[in-house]
Amino acid sequence: MPSNLPDQELIPEGRTVIGPEPFQFRCHPDVGCFKICCRRLELYLYPYDVLRLKSALNMHSALFLRKHVRLAPGSHPFFPSVMLNMGDDDEHTCPFLDEKGCSVYPDRPTACRTYPLERAVEKREGETRLRAHYFMTHHVYCLGHGERNAYTLDRWEREQMLYEYNLMGDLWAEIDAFFASNPWQGEGAAGPLQQLAFMVCYNIDDFRAYASQHRLLQQFALDRNRRRRIEREDEELLKFGFEWLLHVLGGPSPLRSR
Ligand code: SF4
Ligand code: SF4
Repeated sequence: MPSNLPDQELIPEGRTVIGPEPFQFRCHPDVGCFKICCRRLELYLYPYDVLRLKSALNMHSALFLRKHVRLAPGSHPFFPSVMLNMGDDDEHTCPFLDEKGCSVYPDRPTACRTYPLERAVEKREGETRLRAHYFMTHHVYCLGHGERNAYTLDRWEREQMLYEYNLMGDLWAEIDAFFASNPWQGEGAAGPLQQLAFMVCYNIDDFRAYASQHRLLQQFALDRNRRRRIEREDEELLKFGFEWLLHVLGGPSPLRSR
């Protein structure tokens, strides 16, 4: 029977694997380090993070990208990552931190809601589903580890409302793994296909306009309920966009032409 433990190479340096046994942690406004972790950090944003933040801020996604993010090298050479711009104050404070705490708390990015845990997924040979693993970080400034409160992973995922974020993160992990195969048909980095893919993944408002202009939804056999959800909800449009990219780039897309 295959082990549920992650491959050794998947365990980030200085982290410990979290299994079914409870772990000790509590973060609250009265802890001495409150808000310290929202400064001087390198915060990667996944496509769903950008979608949630731009909606919470009531901004067009193109404006959000211009104002709040920068590109960074990805986990492979064939698609960039996106990072949140920190403030230019001495402490490089997150732009969403205010006196009371996180001003976008219900829509805070995956990394913030998962912290002090980190999550990684792997796909093993012969398996269709991704396996998820959690690791505990040990930053000396974080006093939450000394607070008396025991969590199981189930309770942590529930309280941090991680389900939707993990689901969208797993879909993104599959797409990014496909991008790692260099599917840009010889165009190279930042060619038209890669720019199209970047728009689908991170600029959902422009993709909605593109999908309407090119009548994308009409080209595929989608049931009526799904089509309506895609027309109404950005999250459903992003899922459709991932499938459409696989279709356009010759990957294993579940979309069927009409
Ligand atoms: S450093 Fe840890 S305990 Fe302190 S505010 Fe951040 S997550 Fe909470
Ligand atoms: S998004 Fe919120 S929780 Fe995350 S670093 Fe910024 S202020 Fe902190």
